[in-house]
Amino acid sequence: MRPEEQALSPRQAHEGPPGEVLVVDDTAESLAYLCELLGRQGYAVRSAPDGELALWTVRNSPPDLVLLDVRMPAMDGFEVCRRLKADERTAGIPVIFLSAHVERHDKARAFRSGAVDFIGKPLAGEEVLQRVATHIALARATKALAREKRTLEERVRTRTEALERTVAALRGEIASRVAAEKRLRLIASAFEVSLSPMFITDAEGGILAVNPAFSAAMGYPPAACVGQDIRLIIDAARHDEGFFRLLRETVQAEGRWTGELWCRRQDGNQFPCLAALVAVRDEDESLVNHVGVFHDLSESRDAQTLIEFLTHHDPLTGLPNRILVRDRFRCIEDDAQPGETVAVICVNLNRFRDINDFFGYGAGNQVLQWVAGQIGDCVPPRDTVFREAGDEFVLIHRDDGGLAGVQSVIDAIQSRLNTDMSCDELTTPLSVSVGVALYPDDGATLDALIASAALAMARAKAQGGRDPVFFSAGLDHAARQRFDLARRLRHGVARGEFALWYQPQVDAASGRIVAAEALLRWHPADLGFVSPARFIPIAEETGCIIDIGAWVLHTACAQIAAWRAAGCGPRRVAVNLSARQLVRPDLCATVARAMQESGIPPDSLELEITESSLMDDVPRTIATLRELHGMGVSLSLDDFGTGYSSLSYLKRFPIDHLKIDQSFVSALFEEPDAEAIVRAIIGLAHNMRMDVIAEGVETDAQRRFLAAQGCDLLQGYLLGKPLPADAFPHAHGHAPR
Ligand code: C2E
Ligand code: MG
Ligand code: MG
Repeated sequence: MRPEEQALSPRQAHEGPPGEVLVVDDTAESLAYLCELLGRQGYAVRSAPDGELALWTVRNSPPDLVLLDVRMPAMDGFEVCRRLKADERTAGIPVIFLSAHVERHDKARAFRSGAVDFIGKPLAGEEVLQRVATHIALARATKALAREKRTLEERVRTRTEALERTVAALRGEIASRVAAEKRLRLIASAFEVSLSPMFITDAEGGILAVNPAFSAAMGYPPAACVGQDIRLIIDAARHDEGFFRLLRETVQAEGRWTGELWCRRQDGNQFPCLAALVAVRDEDESLVNHVGVFHDLSESRDAQTLIEFLTHHDPLTGLPNRILVRDRFRCIEDDAQPGETVAVICVNLNRFRDINDFFGYGAGNQVLQWVAGQIGDCVPPRDTVFREAGDEFVLIHRDDGGLAGVQSVIDAIQSRLNTDMSCDELTTPLSVSVGVALYPDDGATLDALIASAALAMARAKAQGGRDPVFFSAGLDHAARQRFDLARRLRHGVARGEFALWYQPQVDAASGRIVAAEALLRWHPADLGFVSPARFIPIAEETGCIIDIGAWVLHTACAQIAAWRAAGCGPRRVAVNLSARQLVRPDLCATVARAMQESGIPPDSLELEITESSLMDDVPRTIATLRELHGMGVSLSLDDFGTGYSSLSYLKRFPIDHLKIDQSFVSALFEEPDAEAIVRAIIGLAHNMRMDVIAEGVETDAQRRFLAAQGCDLLQGYLLGKPLPADAFPHAHGHAPR
């Protein structure tokens, strides 16, 4: 026996009865002996004579140990033991086999069936007692161990659970701390990167932290302001103690304050700002910090001022606009003094479009700004100057000196502006046309006065722009008609209201048609035919002639191509060019494109230039004409004799044909020197190797005289009136082949 087994005697291992033993034996003697033996030792002994009874009694009241006889009738000990072990309620009860025939395989079988020991018969009392005590003690110890194990397991389980709960709680805590830290970092980085200046102060207003935007706006690096009172950045001159008291009370009561205040930068500059101050409280609701943010309002104030300015001024010149002028005019209406003259003076630049065309819009703007300044310099401070549109300036002038005073202001303006303007790199001749309307005779409202002054100005321009024109009722009607035509002309090309008619030019010697002049015809829808003599000057004045002239060139070239293709019509067509076309830098390109698009040879096109248009900018005109001539286009000088050029002067221009103006032709045989003049012109032109065309030939006498003088070509009603393109070949025996 092992020492620990000794230690587990029934009395030592267990307080109270040493144990309960069931003795199972079919032999009465053995049964009695064992009961007696064990009973004496204080065991509670039960007995069963067979296996069935043994199983029944064990299930009813499990003993501490079973002594089981192996050999029994009906059910042997092995079977009883197997069944006991198979039932979980009884499996833990130690079973000791008793047998007289101890065979090796019996022992093995006994242990296999679950027995803990084997005692041979005849039984030795001491051995029985010892083994019973040992196994009961063992069983009890095992049970106690199992109990202990269960208790331990239970404790481990509850501890584990508690631990798991703690871990979960800790994890939650960690997660919320991480989240809080993240939030703090986020807030800190928002604070750092915010474009709005921000600061944090303690409860008393001592600065604890400022963000970079704050330093940038205020000029204080953190080191220069942390620790200082926040009033450092507030303009004390504008905010008194009362302001700060109110601010403190509002933050205390409402938790925040928003409002406008004036800040002071480190460099001393002040600026308005919109500020918000928020109170930060701890768990006890005591105020610990202030967080402040502010927004510089100076820029938006500047923008507001700019918007305000632009609403009432012309952005280009800075002059007041019509809205502001209307207000000022209302004041004039209210307090115009008796004897005071109020004049609305319209000043318009002549040929401003040419400046834009030559130098570009930037230069055009520069001119307008310069002009605005000049007009401003000429007028007394209480006058109002504004830009009505484009190159049109309007001045509202009040004068106690009557019309003489008005005239002297106009003189001042004209002497300033009828000049060569020289500004930065730009030098250009300028001139203005001036129209005047008087209040209240020429208009009761500002709009009516401006309209009257504009009409007078248009008349001044039509008259050459040198003298100012005062508005008059008659002017109103004529000028309104011109305005109306000007407006309609703008849409003439798009509306297809123009046509070209052709008038033959005949060889004076042979009478053959050599060429034709293309003459523009305009039929505005509801006005009927309008003469070129009437609308061409308006088209030139308004600049419409550029588009119309381009249309004429393309249409004439296309017509030449069509006649050539049909084998009919004149060999050459003369197209009239306006002086305004001649000064365009793109004239040669426009002509080249028209010829190229229609595919006509250059010698089938002639361009007629009036004498006066040659004199505008002589070197440039010579260059342009040379270029055109170089392209193979022939050039003819129209209306010769009406301008102031001399024949010798014309030598400088590459001109092929000279057209004697019809006024000379019609004067033949009517006026004394007419024949001599015509003869001289023809002779000199031939000297300069120019062919001569006589215009306006209406009589046979004229034809014969001109032919006799060697005039090359004749044009006039006698030879043929202008006709539409499709009528021309039939009328002149040039019908299609
Ligand atoms: P112009 O170039 O001198 O054209 C000749 C003008 O004399 C034409 O007037 C023509 O119809 C007219 N005429 C021709 N033969 C006679 C005649 O025997 N007796 C009389 N009394 N007149 C005759 P129209 O067509 O009215 O043109 C007037 C002016 O308008 C033209 O004078 C020309 O300067 C201008 N013009 C016509 N078409 C164009 C054009 O396409 N472009 C430009 N820029 N100007 C044009
Ligand atoms: Mg002509
Ligand atoms: Mg002519």
